Amino acid sequence: MLTPTRGANYRAGNRERLRLEAAQYRRYNPDVGARYRATHKAGLKKSQRKWYIANAEKRKAYSAWYRTQHPGKASAVSARWRAEHAEEARERSRQRYAADRKGQVARARKWREENPDTLKATLARYRANHPEEMRVRAQAARARKSSASGTYTFDEWTACLALWDNCCAYCGRKMKGLTQDHVVPLSKGGWHCGLNVVPACKPCNSQKGVSMLREWLTMEGE
Ligand SMILES: [Zn+2]
Repeated sequence: MLTPTRGANYRAGNRERLRLEAAQYRRYNPDVGARYRATHKAGLKKSQRKWYIANAEKRKAYSAWYRTQHPGKASAVSARWRAEHAEEARERSRQRYAADRKGQVARARKWREENPDTLKATLARYRANHPEEMRVRAQAARARKSSASGTYTFDEWTACLALWDNCCAYCGRKMKGLTQDHVVPLSKGGWHCGLNVVPACKPCNSQKGVSMLREWLTMEGE
């Protein structure tokens, strides 16, 4: 009978021969590996995970080396992964950020300093793709500058537009690109908040009649 020790001895003494035999076997049975992997999926995943955890340093060194050998490829792979697992990718980056906020902020700043052109292009693209959000941000920045009290978020503005069915609060025309109008102007101490913001078309927002209507509205409220 072949005892475990004898089996090990045999393997040690015939390493090369066994390797060749296995290679030949695989050549004549090309799908055996795939079949094995398919039927032992869970176990393989587990042992792979165990290996991953036990060899964290080795793995890190290997992927660093791989990235130097295949520039662009690793980032293409991870970009594809992120595209296919958007929600999980977001969650992971949230967790990374929460675990090391200071480090993340410092790394991001360093990256921005080292890649000003890429940053510029990315921001320009973002601004072009999110005109509505940009309008809200610009308005919020103006409100902060005139030291208005209160906060108003993009979500609140979206809800406000839905409430008014995307119509100008003064002339009632339905349209895209409505601006935020402060019923009590910021210059008169009005707050930059949901109670004081209505959608207005550009002509109405800049008309004298609107400011009279505004005054009437606020008087009624007193
Ligand atoms: Zn209008």
